[in-house]
Amino acid sequence: MSEYKAPIRDMQFVLKELAGLDDIAKLPGCEEVTAELVGQILEESAKFASGVLSPLNKPADEEGSKWENGEVRTPKGFKEAYKQFVAGGWNALQAPAEYGGQDLPKIVSTPVIEMWKSANLSTWTGTMNLTEPQAGSDLALVKTRAVREGDHYRIYGQKIFITYGEHDLAENIVHMVLARTPDAPEGVRGISLFVVPKFLVGKDGSRGARNDVKCASIEHKLGIHASPTAVMIYGEKDGALGHLVGEENRGLEYMFIMMNAARFAVGLEGLALAERAYQQALGYAKERIQSRDLSGGDKVVPIIRHPDVRRMLMSMKAQTEAMRALAYVVAAAMDEAHHYPDKEGRARNQAFVDLMIPIVKGWSTETGIDVASTGIQVHGGMGFIEETGAAQYLRDARITSIYEGTTGIQANDLVGRKIAREGGATAKEVTNAMRAVEAQLGSAAGDDMAEIRAAFSAAITAAEECVSWIVVTYGNDIKAVHAGAVPFLKLMGIVCGGWQMARAALVAQRRLSEGKGDKSFYEAKIKTARFYADHLLTQAPALRNTIVRGAAGVMALAEEQF
Ligand SMILES: Cc1cc2nc3c(=O)[nH]c(=O)nc-3n(C[C@H](O)[C@H](O)[C@H](O)COP(=O)(O)OP(=O)(O)OC[C@H]3O[C@@H](n4cnc5c(N)ncnc54)[C@H](O)[C@@H]3O)c2cc1C
Repeated sequence: MSEYKAPIRDMQFVLKELAGLDDIAKLPGCEEVTAELVGQILEESAKFASGVLSPLNKPADEEGSKWENGEVRTPKGFKEAYKQFVAGGWNALQAPAEYGGQDLPKIVSTPVIEMWKSANLSTWTGTMNLTEPQAGSDLALVKTRAVREGDHYRIYGQKIFITYGEHDLAENIVHMVLARTPDAPEGVRGISLFVVPKFLVGKDGSRGARNDVKCASIEHKLGIHASPTAVMIYGEKDGALGHLVGEENRGLEYMFIMMNAARFAVGLEGLALAERAYQQALGYAKERIQSRDLSGGDKVVPIIRHPDVRRMLMSMKAQTEAMRALAYVVAAAMDEAHHYPDKEGRARNQAFVDLMIPIVKGWSTETGIDVASTGIQVHGGMGFIEETGAAQYLRDARITSIYEGTTGIQANDLVGRKIAREGGATAKEVTNAMRAVEAQLGSAAGDDMAEIRAAFSAAITAAEECVSWIVVTYGNDIKAVHAGAVPFLKLMGIVCGGWQMARAALVAQRRLSEGKGDKSFYEAKIKTARFYADHLLTQAPALRNTIVRGAAGVMALAEEQF
């Protein structure tokens, strides 16, 4: 397994030229964010990611977390790495200063988090207890009980699949648990949110007795072996002592604040693993000698010279850069939604973020899986052998399109809550912004820009037609819309990624004409955007046909015909 090297050059480019770091730094509350500070943070986090987290990735995958008598032992080196992580203040990067955090905006924490996830996807802690055996995608079915007792509650029930539900990294674990009070209404309107610590905490902050919550076992899984996935039992004896967050029956609403942040963060996992898989495949393609060059001669050459291997590497690189650009642009909009001086500006940015969350989550994770799979293909047989590490990226990536809401659930959210409910208003604003970029491409010189424009224009038309079709069809044939929801999410991901690649190409061309900066980087940016246009954006019109015409085929068979 090759060690991870943070792609700081591309990160800096996206932050400055596409996500508008300088504008974020002008927002009230973000004044401390200078380009210099961001540069230092990226350098330091890159050192930690490459020097501490990345070397643990493979051995920790082999060792896995181990369960014994209710306790979980994380793999060798994790405890020490976590200590350093906390000592460096990395766990509190985004937290408000009043709670000991550094209060840095999302635009700064996002590339840092991308690095941690590239280096080692299994080092995350913190627990969200939603899932139960009968309640997965459908949280209306949550059964865990919460019974009021004075100023607190007693919690009884079982939660499954809880990431880091138990571990040995920190002295206490705070669980956020969804449960129902005895007289709560049915469904999602009767769910409350509770804080349930592993150890009770005294008024002076001291650690007290063990709470009535235990880890019954951990799962054996396809990937993220070092991350313990726990079955949690609450209230086996007297009931686990928990404290209500906010008001009763509003738990899902509160949890959604955390879930939206988590969905964005899981989208970053797709990007991060794509980056790591690309680095690994690129290194291998430069070293592996096989077959003669098509241009002639007897010498066998590194496989990077063969057009199909190039195609695979370009598809990995182009999609990774597109995912990064979109994610960082959305991170900047989160900061604007929070810090923008006027209410209207905050609301506009929040609407954009709301629309983009299912796209960043669903598209980046599905694409991360594809990219990790292509990474295996670049290795040939060695990709299938664990020794190279390429297989681990695919195994680890596979969970990302499942947890925090499967791709199907993200796509339902996108077509229903985010598009149909508001008559496609925000989506139309986004496609209008894309049309403005298309117009700029029209005035830019050169074949690459002309070809990017042509593919982008057709892709925007495909997106616009789908949005209009969804708005019209949702009310009278909801199943038809949902039948094409995942292909639509993919289309939107491809087009939004293409939007950012087109913007990147325009900036690169401008910088080249000014004769400033890294010529080779800017030239590569334009060529990569051209590849994205020819190989990815061209998929959008075909997806449009699948979405608009394909529903009948999806539901055509009776259940007995399967
Ligand atoms: C390693 C791991 C870690 C996890 N960590 C956590 C955690 O920390 N906390 C936590 O609470 N949970 C966690 N989960 C649970 C995870 O969030 C759920 O597995 C996920 O939400 C899917 O639920 P499910 O497994 O019950 O699948 P189901 O809901 O049974 O879904 C099965 C299939 O049906 C589809 N489906 C279901 N409903 C619909 C619908 N309405 N429309 C279209 N398709 C639908 C799904 O897309 C999927 O393809 C974790 C799971 C794993 C495997």
